[in-house]
Amino acid sequence: MTKTALVTGISGQDGAYLAKNLLGRGYRVVGAQRRNAGINSGRLSELGVLDDIELVDMELLEESNIRAALQKVKPDEIYNLAAQSFVGLSFEQPLYTCEVSALGVLRLLEASRQICPDARFYQASTSEMFGKVQAIPQSETTPFYPRSPYGVGKLFAHWMTVNYRESYGMFACSGILFNHESPLRGVEFVTRKVTLGLARVALGQQDMILLGNLDAKRDWGFAGDYVDAMWRMLQGETPDDFVVATGLTYTVRDFVERAAEVLGFDLEWEGEGVETRGIDKKSSKTVVTVSSEFFRPAEVDILLGDPSKAERQLGWKAATQLPALVEMMAKADFDRVKNGQIRF
Ligand code: NAP
Ligand code: GDP
Repeated sequence: MTKTALVTGISGQDGAYLAKNLLGRGYRVVGAQRRNAGINSGRLSELGVLDDIELVDMELLEESNIRAALQKVKPDEIYNLAAQSFVGLSFEQPLYTCEVSALGVLRLLEASRQICPDARFYQASTSEMFGKVQAIPQSETTPFYPRSPYGVGKLFAHWMTVNYRESYGMFACSGILFNHESPLRGVEFVTRKVTLGLARVALGQQDMILLGNLDAKRDWGFAGDYVDAMWRMLQGETPDDFVVATGLTYTVRDFVERAAEVLGFDLEWEGEGVETRGIDKKSSKTVVTVSSEFFRPAEVDILLGDPSKAERQLGWKAATQLPALVEMMAKADFDRVKNGQIRF
């Protein structure tokens, strides 16, 4: 029998990749989309799946709207990807961020308990919950220490997911995913900001890019790989929580260097801190500068995941490493800028 998956956050990066993955497995995919200025369908179109999914209205701030969507869709699996997902913005909009990314999850869990308690539930948790890390690498047993309103809100949602599993026997899993990127990543995140910005510099549409902390380290993987781990979590015999990561960490500086190389620059660094500049030796032009504007009030210095439980129990392993990821993103942005096709 065809299974129905309800995917919140369908218009986001992961929503598009997960929809494609689930359609390939024969699912009926219903994307939950909030009604704002209009349907944000660029990513779904880019992956060629917009016409193969159904859409339903669901605003995580609105309980009655969530209940109506669950009653209508009758999902077998719920993937809760919706969130205000940008850490930087969460410092400026902490209440809104937690309304959506913390209380919104509780609204959805409670409505699911009442309306479709047998539906399997995936919560999009994050390595940002480790924040000021208490161990390196971070695994499912590492204590949490979030460093932003986003991280704190996500931690609430994580524990609510665990609590609904333990209290009501719901098949609820929390996937603790480390940063994952793709050509569909939002332009506010550092990886896409770098690949799109440097592509514009390479094509003469912009002079330079302006970044913040170049020394932060992240365990960056490819979103297309990571959505498969989400699906695997919901197919297990018992619900559980899993770290999903590559097991490798790189600095923002490393990412910039690799992107610059792919786009044909010969980058050399000068100066330190906010005086740092990345100079293209070929043209002698400054193509990267640093501004305190992009530093966070509290930083997460290093994230490095230990994905061994996911490998052992889900048979999942990251297929794409950082050099290939950067190349994929930089080439995609170069082509988009060249063809004047930036849709998100
Ligand atoms: P994203 O591109 O920012 O997408 C977020 C989605 O949430 C969008 O579809 C957005 O809809 C929707 N949304 C926002 N506010 C909403 C609301 N009030 N009601 C209903 N929908 C709402 O995020 P992503 O990168 O795909 O990440 C997916 C999930 O994984 C998020 O929960 C994120 O926090 C989490 N996560 C991501 C990473 C990562 O590295 N990407 C790592 C760990 C965890 P609009 O289009 O209408 O704005
Ligand atoms: P996050 O890990 O979810 O916060 O993902 P981001 O891509 O937003 O940020 C990753 C790291 O890059 C953080 O440590 C940021 O402080 C650092 N960073 C440095 N410059 C920038 C920038 O210009 N924009 C963003 N978003 N992050 C930056």
